[in-house]
Amino acid sequence: MKYISTRGQSPALSFTEILLGGLAPDGGLYLPEQYPQLSDADLTRLRGMNYRDLAFSILSLLADDIPPADLRAIVDKTYRADVYAYARPEQNAEDITPTLKLEDNLYLLSLSNGPTLAFKDMAMQLLGNLFEYVLAKKGETTNILGATSGDTGSAAEYAMRGKKGVKVFMLSPHKKMSRFQTAQMFSLQDENIFNIAVNGVFDDAQDIVKAVSNDAAFKARNKIGAVNSINWARVAAQVVYYFKGYFAVTRSNTEKVSFAVPSGNFGNVCAGHVARMMGLPIDKLVVATNENDVLDEFFKTGVYRPRGSANTYHTSSPSMDISKASNFERFVFDLTGRDAAKVRALWSKVDQGGAFDLNEDGLFAQVADYGFVSGSSNHAARMQTIRETQAKYGVTIDTHTADGLKVALQVREPAIPMLVLETALPVKFEDAIQEALGHKPERPASLQGLEDLPQRFEVMDADVQAIKQFIVDHTAD
Ligand SMILES: *Cc1c(COP(=O)(O)O)cnc(C)c1O
Repeated sequence: MKYISTRGQSPALSFTEILLGGLAPDGGLYLPEQYPQLSDADLTRLRGMNYRDLAFSILSLLADDIPPADLRAIVDKTYRADVYAYARPEQNAEDITPTLKLEDNLYLLSLSNGPTLAFKDMAMQLLGNLFEYVLAKKGETTNILGATSGDTGSAAEYAMRGKKGVKVFMLSPHKKMSRFQTAQMFSLQDENIFNIAVNGVFDDAQDIVKAVSNDAAFKARNKIGAVNSINWARVAAQVVYYFKGYFAVTRSNTEKVSFAVPSGNFGNVCAGHVARMMGLPIDKLVVATNENDVLDEFFKTGVYRPRGSANTYHTSSPSMDISKASNFERFVFDLTGRDAAKVRALWSKVDQGGAFDLNEDGLFAQVADYGFVSGSSNHAARMQTIRETQAKYGVTIDTHTADGLKVALQVREPAIPMLVLETALPVKFEDAIQEALGHKPERPASLQGLEDLPQRFEVMDADVQAIKQFIVDHTAD
């Protein structure tokens, strides 16, 4: 399997060759040259597999340059019940992504039972083990630099902690994350993890990462890497749970199901698109946004109009406060019939701060063929959905999942099972749950007192030079 760029001007490479990088050299995103095709007999063979067997079967199609025995070991080490331990009492942690039935044909697919209680652990934990494996094989090391407003940074740190050959430098806005998120990250004592609390807001931290990334010489000399949401291995890892969810609620491959996906960067739902292209019988892929509704606007009108940070709202589903969906280009590449010249033309507008309209050449009419529908939510709807879900089903859901469920209820068809992807657990967003329900969600015993643990972090000014120096000082072997 070779991977090609959506912009068509980079050489085709294998899975492990693109693993450590981000964008392709031509600025595009990697996708398989062709999607593997699963037959009815293949689906029947996969049905009934446990998570590890399923993950191995699917990933071996996408990561076929890793020897099977090695991939097997990586998958077995990653998807363990003791790593995805926050399953609800009525769920089986061995399922890794168990379903929870709300009513007939309406389910949650729990993706947030990993160490940081958000779905990003599903891919990031695999990435940690893949990075360690590939770096050891090549005899290399990497220094991951990132900026986080909460979920991504902690998922990356919990995935990379203690990994040989990897150091993590994670910038976060000083005193701007929730107490829980801060404690989750800063309580890590691993020597390869460096938390840098930047005096400023998230954009200041993000700008520093961009400035360092634009300094090619510094980047090469200090082996700076990234684990951002466009990383193909993250998308590949996420494909697996669409299969797991499908098999959990169907008895035969003639049945279709729909998935509702709380979306920001389009990474999660992009994996659903890939699963569908591989032959999984998906009816609808429901793209649910919050008040930052760039994707909803596109799927309703055909106009893609990313917004700047001044027009990106801070909401109570903060991990979806994104106005430029970095993985969206992957879908548009497929929509254009994989016309790289067309994608280049469209993104030459986007990359200059502009928009594009796919009605102009009739492409928008074809979006429905890919199963996409969309909707958006807002604070009031989110609070109401959390309250109603508690009252009707006795289940507490977080704010992001509430956005997914709200839109799912608007678009579902009664005869087709709808799985709402649960992208975070409610304990992560205690204040919003308090507002909706009048009390805080229950905390698992292992997380009690998290905020009282000793914290390890460095406060620094938003000064690119100083942060570069910090990296240099802490990477000398
Ligand atoms: C990252 C995140 C999302 C958005 O996922 P994308 O892949 O960026 O679309 C939704 N919910 C939660 C809780 C997240 O952390």
